[in-house]
Amino acid sequence: MPDFQSRRHLFSIPDGVVYLDGNSLGPLPNAASKRIANTVEKEWGIDLIRAWNTAGWIDWPANLGDRIAPLVGATPGTVTVGDTLSIRIFQVLAAALRMRPDRNVILTDSGNFPSDIYMADGLARLVNDGHRIEAVEPEAVADRLVDDVAVLMLTHVDYRTGRMHDMAELTGLAHEVGALTIWDLAHSAGAVPVDLDGAKADFAAGCTYKYLNGGPGSPGFVYVRPDHIETVEPALSGWLGHADPFAFELDYTPAKGRDRMRIGTPSVIALAALDAALDAWSDVDMRDVRQRSIELTQLFIDEMEARIPEAKLVSPRAAEARGSHVSFSHPEGYALMQALIARGVIGDFRAPDMMRFGIAPLYNTKDDIRAAVTALKEILESGEWDQDRFKTRAAVT
Ligand SMILES: *Cc1c(COP(=O)(O)O)cnc(C)c1O
Repeated sequence: MPDFQSRRHLFSIPDGVVYLDGNSLGPLPNAASKRIANTVEKEWGIDLIRAWNTAGWIDWPANLGDRIAPLVGATPGTVTVGDTLSIRIFQVLAAALRMRPDRNVILTDSGNFPSDIYMADGLARLVNDGHRIEAVEPEAVADRLVDDVAVLMLTHVDYRTGRMHDMAELTGLAHEVGALTIWDLAHSAGAVPVDLDGAKADFAAGCTYKYLNGGPGSPGFVYVRPDHIETVEPALSGWLGHADPFAFELDYTPAKGRDRMRIGTPSVIALAALDAALDAWSDVDMRDVRQRSIELTQLFIDEMEARIPEAKLVSPRAAEARGSHVSFSHPEGYALMQALIARGVIGDFRAPDMMRFGIAPLYNTKDDIRAAVTALKEILESGEWDQDRFKTRAAVT
């Protein structure tokens, strides 16, 4: 078991802050500041346009894809980076629907992230071919898998409760009825072991600014199963996904392999930050991360239930059924969270009443967990939360 404590110094976490929101925005990796400065000052500033070749910017989406691949159980050459997760969901859903032209149900669950469902809805309207989105309860997904389902589109780890689907099992059931699968890994990549190849998942997409610590708005990634990759229609057929972008042909011919999933010019400065962030993951075995994550999430649940019984656990109690964040509901959850944040214990809030705590073994410790619970206990006992300034909802919760 590696000593994760030794990685905490790789991150810039201000003194006095207990950071439990890496599931929304990972902290700044120290290496990122220098890498961004190098890309800005040297590559952009001096090399200018030449840097696409001299610094290899053009290959960064693929190179970074290959660095993310081992964290999600993907073969090298199956992941590319760029654009946002929402756009990637649209792209792979459009591609998958083209592969099942005789079916019209997009199956998802009611715990899916709204953006995924909005994107599916927008796509269905655009395609205008009788597609229907069905969002069933998470426990009812398996039973709803029958042969009208074109695509099963799920978020692996629920963004609110942390409930985790069995990816291999549901993918297998989907394939038995001829459906394709899309997995959203927003709360999985860097949080729990994922085995995309092993599960035979058809498509996956994720973001890099949560557990992977790539920085606010850092680009998303997309995975295509190796045996689809030479035939999939990329749907968002931008010039950088063309077989020969600099031939500037008017006819679109998709590139070989995952490069066909590229769309337009990558966000180079953001990719520089992500590249530095991924250094923190070198030599990390996700099974060790998982073991440590379970230890920490379990400690958090035990401490909360022992000391603050009025908060109700909304995450699964069984460790194997949850990801790496834990949520508790409380009628004053919003104000409690703002009071916690004012004390430097940073989690977040999800409507209607959930306090959400992301636990990231790369930098969180048992002391963080105990300090957070102690702070919440004090806030409740003192009534410190009961102030107007903690009750006014901010734009981002
Ligand atoms: C964070 C998150 C997103 C965000 O998508 P963006 O396009 O990056 O804003 C999408 N899906 C899930 C499940 C998320 O948790």
